Amino acid sequence: MSRVFNFSAGPAMLPSEVIQQAQQEMLDWHGSGMSVMEMSHRGKEFIEIATTAETDLRELLSIPDNYKVLFLQGGASTQFAMVPLNLMGKTGKADYANTGAWSKKAISEGKRFGEVSICASSEADGFNSVPAYSGWEMSSSASYVHVTPNETIGGVAYAGLPDTGDIPIVADMSSTILSQPIDVSDYGIIYTGAQKNIGPAGLTIVIIREDLIGLAGDNCPSMLNYATHSEADSMANTPPTYSWYLAGLVFKWLKAKGGLTAMQEINERKAAKLYAAIDGNAFYSNPVALENRSLMNVPFILQDAQLDADFLSGAKELGLTSLKGHRSVGGMRASIYNAMPEEGVDTLIQFMNDFAAKNG
Ligand SMILES: *Cc1c(COP(=O)(O)O)cnc(C)c1O
Repeated sequence: MSRVFNFSAGPAMLPSEVIQQAQQEMLDWHGSGMSVMEMSHRGKEFIEIATTAETDLRELLSIPDNYKVLFLQGGASTQFAMVPLNLMGKTGKADYANTGAWSKKAISEGKRFGEVSICASSEADGFNSVPAYSGWEMSSSASYVHVTPNETIGGVAYAGLPDTGDIPIVADMSSTILSQPIDVSDYGIIYTGAQKNIGPAGLTIVIIREDLIGLAGDNCPSMLNYATHSEADSMANTPPTYSWYLAGLVFKWLKAKGGLTAMQEINERKAAKLYAAIDGNAFYSNPVALENRSLMNVPFILQDAQLDADFLSGAKELGLTSLKGHRSVGGMRASIYNAMPEEGVDTLIQFMNDFAAKNG
């Protein structure tokens, strides 16, 4: 068996140990005689899987008791609508930071539900930085402030958070959740699709402060209402059971690795050496402001775009796949989430150096 180092932005690599465990438990989960895929979501076996996953996630992120964790479907993209549907009604307004491709999508969806004000934008800078918080223009009547702490496509990450006073911060953490410790109490809502740093596609996790549940208007479809899912412990209808189970295995894996402080150390080391390889060779470049470089998604371009195809095919021969940059950015992008082994990054750096030496 040979597994490649898959640098895809999502769905992304999962830890081999997790997939192997799922394989062992595939036909018969813990003597139940069933695959998790075949279990009733209301049966005692699955309830155990579901609650253990939630407990482990709460432990990893130190989620305070006044926050609910919802296991939903629809991806982060559905949250672009669910957030305003549930929260915008308070004042009819919300502030959004425009820091890249994913914020833009959240903004255009938010506009369907009320008045969206752009409190900060780095569009003029080609989305290569996050505007200094001192310059953010927050409106005192916003129902919430929406941020995207890691812009997956541009490889841009926020350093810290703006001070929004009592106005809740809503964060799309799809590509940064679980990569390092965070203080959940800084946020009103954290949402994330699973397929980048949690588990397989199909699961969306929402961490929401309790006082933000139950604010939706009467015309909010019940399946898009946080209250529906909170009251039903995410079982208002059939949840994505298998993805939930696999996410639970990933949480156990993270705990065994030492939790998020240990992950942060590894992630910082992986990212630092990759950026050093890019910065240390004129053959490669990355346009993002130093303080806003992402630990998870590292875009880089070759000096000569004519060599892109050769680069990609040479990388593939070494088992380094999915390095092609997003179509809107071009060049390359290496997504190096928790499950990317350090050896994968080392192999990529070695290849980059060799390729530059041969073609530079
Ligand atoms: C991938 C991604 C999304 C879209 O996620 P889906 O689960 O496919 O809807 C949204 N926001 C960010 C920051 C992402 O990285």
